[in-house]
Amino acid sequence: MRCPACGQMEDKVIESRSMANGDCIRRRRECTACHHRFTSYERIEEKPFMVVKRDGRREPFEREKLARGIERALEKRPVSTSYTELIVAEIEDQAYNIGKVTREISTSDLGELVLQRLNSVDKVAYIRFASVYKHFNDLDEFIQEVQKVGVRENN
Ligand SMILES: [Zn+2]
Repeated sequence: MRCPACGQMEDKVIESRSMANGDCIRRRRECTACHHRFTSYERIEEKPFMVVKRDGRREPFEREKLARGIERALEKRPVSTSYTELIVAEIEDQAYNIGKVTREISTSDLGELVLQRLNSVDKVAYIRFASVYKHFNDLDEFIQEVQKVGVRENN
């Protein structure tokens, strides 16, 4: 936020407090250049965060739904519940970050976030999620995806 004293853009927030009616946040800020202190008032975004589906329909982002998909992919995998929760929280943060301006994210962008994360955590979970999420057109496509991450069937 621009410093009213020197015009510099960098500041640090000293204190945040939501106002009595709950739709506004008051922040005390300090300019990092001249240390001038000032107050900002920000309206809390009321527009819900939306997910844009493949067919263009929008639905409100549901953390539960995201969590369910990830939990299902990680079922019986050597990944702890607390780590799974961390993954969900991280992906949620990333999604909000990507959709910061428009307040929405496409299902494919959201899916990519999950895939990227699962790919680094557990290859089997990645394949499980990919097979559901990407709606493979045919078996070849699925096999290509499997080969891409180098998963071997052992049983
Ligand atoms: Zn300043």
